[in-house]
Amino acid sequence: MPKKIAFGDNAAKEFSYPKNSLIITTTTHEIYSKWLEYIGITNYEIYDKVTPDPAIEAVEAIKKEYEGKNISAYIGLGGGSSMDVCKYLGKLTGIPKILIPTTFGTGAEMTTYAVISFEHRKKLLQDEAFLADAAIVDPYFLPGTPFNIMRNSACDAASQASEGYDSKLANPLTKLFCREAFEILEDAIVNDKPNLLPYGAMLSGIGFGNSSTTLGHALSYVFSNEGVPHGYALSSCTTVAHKFNRSVYYERFKRICQKLKFEPLKLKQPLDQAADVIMPDRGHLDNNPIPVTKQDIIKCLSEIVNGNPLE
Ligand SMILES: [Zn+2]
Repeated sequence: MPKKIAFGDNAAKEFSYPKNSLIITTTTHEIYSKWLEYIGITNYEIYDKVTPDPAIEAVEAIKKEYEGKNISAYIGLGGGSSMDVCKYLGKLTGIPKILIPTTFGTGAEMTTYAVISFEHRKKLLQDEAFLADAAIVDPYFLPGTPFNIMRNSACDAASQASEGYDSKLANPLTKLFCREAFEILEDAIVNDKPNLLPYGAMLSGIGFGNSSTTLGHALSYVFSNEGVPHGYALSSCTTVAHKFNRSVYYERFKRICQKLKFEPLKLKQPLDQAADVIMPDRGHLDNNPIPVTKQDIIKCLSEIVNGNPLE
């Protein structure tokens, strides 16, 4: 996990930022100008042209634009895309990176993962060099989050915590983080305490980031490829995966999804074809607690699209 973690109310405000940092964000001037005022940063450059699902060309363009400008640190301020760009830039240049999530769910500020597109295909990359030098988790950013983003992020965090707990790579320490993350996220969602989400998501990031997600995430990408948001796709996919794995979290995860009122998913491509896309995803499937065959995947997909797994 990052060497330095600043967490809690006013964490982003009280942090002392290095001079001549480059802030990277996906959001609009109207929104980030308020954020910058809050965090009280002076003496910085800002790059606000990052688009969601960033491509490697975008990362290289930023690197080129700021070469020779003595940037002391990158500050990723925003959702996953801003942080992913920072992570990759940091790997390319060796410049330190500070990550400040404003939507809470992926726990990306804690992990060695980054998602970058190469030739229009999203790729999940893992590298120790992606790890933040400092992560700042401040619930200040939570209230402005639209309900749909909040709901999808909360589902992603709960899914990561519970899949990470069951993962074959889990050890007693990662299980400790995943278990605590799930308890907090469940309390936040079921008992309407959204201010607990940032802490739950952060712990989830530390837990799953050191053990990996499994079948639920593997199943979800065929839905993401057809435009379903990541967290939304996980509602049904992780529920069905937990049932398949006989996870201790099956009923509790389903209850979270019911509370968040997710609808069943649809898939345009035939299940057999989708299973062929999922099977090579060894990064997720090999870490699943029990072996998964192509037939198992077809059965899970059928339960997702033909039944109502959240009922
Ligand atoms: Zn996820």
